[in-house]
Amino acid sequence: MQLIDGKALANKIQEQVAQEVDDLKSKHNIVPGLAVILVGDDPASHAYVRMKSKACERVGFYSITHNMPDSINQEEIIGTIEMINANPRIDGILVQLPLPKHIDTDAILDAIDPNKDVDGFHPCNVGRMVTGLDAFVPCTPLGVMKMFEEYNINLQGKDVCVVGASNIVGKPMASLLLNANATVDVTHIYTKDLKEHTSKADIVIVGAGVPKLIKADMIKEGAIVIDIGINRLEDGSLVGDVDFENVAPKCSYITPVPGGVGPMTIAMLLSNTLDSAKKRVSK
Ligand code: NAD
Repeated sequence: MQLIDGKALANKIQEQVAQEVDDLKSKHNIVPGLAVILVGDDPASHAYVRMKSKACERVGFYSITHNMPDSINQEEIIGTIEMINANPRIDGILVQLPLPKHIDTDAILDAIDPNKDVDGFHPCNVGRMVTGLDAFVPCTPLGVMKMFEEYNINLQGKDVCVVGASNIVGKPMASLLLNANATVDVTHIYTKDLKEHTSKADIVIVGAGVPKLIKADMIKEGAIVIDIGINRLEDGSLVGDVDFENVAPKCSYITPVPGGVGPMTIAMLLSNTLDSAKKRVSK
């Protein structure tokens, strides 16, 4: 069994991004800029945004966080997004999800300029990604694809089971796998017999938000298991969706939590923002 070290790969990507930022600054006087919109006081969302801001600092980006109270209305958020859309110093806009219940998330994501949509959630980028066109791709599934690339894991013709079908994790993951010529089986909460699907797969990718959902008897010998889940237990520890201790011995490759997909998500956010900033050079 080999561990897929997301932390090490994310560090390597961040170093490459930092190098390219230096070049952009010295040759073109361009500093990539990321704007984050954070609504409400959910501690997990605040922690994620802090991590993203620190990562921006490390690679030399300009970054700004718009902190908004829970009571804010949709029009005010959209007004702020329109202002950021027009700001030439900003290359990427990220709205930290989930938003409070009274806000229509689709309307908010729709207001982001698709050319600054570094999270890849705008319908325009979703459509382009599905059809295999150049697009901003959601950071978590993109990070998983980078892991496969780094570890020379060929996806063509592989049977891949994706567990979880959300718009930000499972669905884009399935699209990217299909574009890489894998045979993709997408499962979710209403799937009748999850084990029947996972136990046949060469690769199982899980993003459900359920600790220990994937147990050893659900995985075939030699499978590759990618755990996207991040769950905080009552004792404060972080675990994924896979019963790591018992599943790992059966796997050829597996990602740990923490230190697997999580750091890759942030690295991909930096990479997408850098790509957006590079487009300023040719303008
Ligand atoms: P979500 O709640 O929007 O979607 C969960 C999906 O899992 C749904 O499609 C649901 O049908 C499915 N599901 C739930 N219980 C299931 C079960 N028992 N069997 C089969 N399918 C089941 O969640 P999300 O935003 O997609 O996040 C999923 C997990 O991934 C969470 O733990 C989240 O914290 C984590 N996450 C991690 C990163 C990262 O950077 N590593 C990024 C985003 C989300």
